[in-house]
Amino acid sequence: MTTIQQRNDIPLLTMLEGEGVSHFKLREFENRDGLAMIHPATLTALEMVRRDLNTRYDETVWILITDAVRTRADQERLAARLGWTDEGGLVARRSRHLTTFGGIAVDLVAVVARTRTRAPQAVVGDVCRRYFDFVKDDYRDGHVHADMRVHAR
Ligand SMILES: [Zn+2]
Repeated sequence: MTTIQQRNDIPLLTMLEGEGVSHFKLREFENRDGLAMIHPATLTALEMVRRDLNTRYDETVWILITDAVRTRADQERLAARLGWTDEGGLVARRSRHLTTFGGIAVDLVAVVARTRTRAPQAVVGDVCRRYFDFVKDDYRDGHVHADMRVHAR
C-alpha cells in the first residue's frame, strides 16, 4: 500500500570512514509543505555528531531535526513570529536555511533515548562545532543551529 504519509520516507545513506551509516530519513528535513533538501556535507556532519554523542553517553542518543530547509514564505512566516535579526529578532534575512543555500543548515536537539531527556544545549553545540562550519547554541528554546556555510559554498 502506498499513502501520502510515506512521502519522503527514504533512508539517507552516508559513508563514515568507509562504512555506510543511515540514521536519518529525508522526511526529517521537510518543510511544512513536504519540500526536503539536504546537502551531503550536512548529512555527514550530522552522522558524526550522532556517533560522537552516542560514544559520549555510551548509549543511544537521538538527533531530532527541528527545522531544516526553508522557502522565502517559510522565512517570512517565522520572522513574523520571531522577528528579523536586524530588528532585534531571531531570524536572519540571509538565513542558511533558505533553499538557495542548498540544504546546508539544520536546527536540532539531542535526546537520550532511554531516559527521553535532552542532552544539554552546550554539550550538543560543542560536538556540532567539531564538524559544522558554524554553530549557534544560545537559543532560549534549547535548540542548536548548525550549518556548512564554508564547506558547501
Ligand atoms: Zn537554524
